[in-house]
Amino acid sequence: MAFEKLIEYFLKFPGIGPRQAKRFGYFLAGTDKKFAEELAKLILEIKKNVIQCQSCWSFFESAAERTSNNCSICANLNRDTLLLMVIEKDVDLENIEKSGVYNGKYFVLGGAISLADGAKKQNHLRFKELFDKVQKEMPKEIILATSATIEGENTARYIEKILEPVNKKFHLKITRLGRGLSTGTELEYIDSETMSNALKSRK
Ligand SMILES: [Zn+2]
Repeated sequence: MAFEKLIEYFLKFPGIGPRQAKRFGYFLAGTDKKFAEELAKLILEIKKNVIQCQSCWSFFESAAERTSNNCSICANLNRDTLLLMVIEKDVDLENIEKSGVYNGKYFVLGGAISLADGAKKQNHLRFKELFDKVQKEMPKEIILATSATIEGENTARYIEKILEPVNKKFHLKITRLGRGLSTGTELEYIDSETMSNALKSRK
């Protein structure tokens, strides 16, 4: 049944539970045909035009004549290449960019270590890619900007552990955002003033 199947797809979306998935399903059932067609078209379009940056792993919409596989931040020569901020997800990057308080580069990890999943399901996170990037580009400072949640803390500690060999060899500075962030704060929701303070008080 198409309806049931659609609900199953919505359930795969981040943060969507069964009740919300059903609400989406009924909402779509009630919209007009044009809405559904436009939505279906857009979904196919982003699969074609939105690509993942080969340097920081963020998603970006590429121009028709793509000349680079890198996003505009990675391609921007005015950004500080000695600073690398590790974040969990694309929306975090978007929020920090909006705050305008950071001028370094990013690395999108793809999420945080989930307690529920345990060790088995962490392979979607880009720890290896991070290690390779750090070793290749040698930033002076790596800012671990994971969320102020248990998952975020565990993730930051894990990153410190895997970067230890490179760190020992090259004496990188690994910092964490100052916890002007209250516990439980996810980066995607913080305002620019809090972000600015957290960045200034990093250690
Ligand atoms: Zn990039």
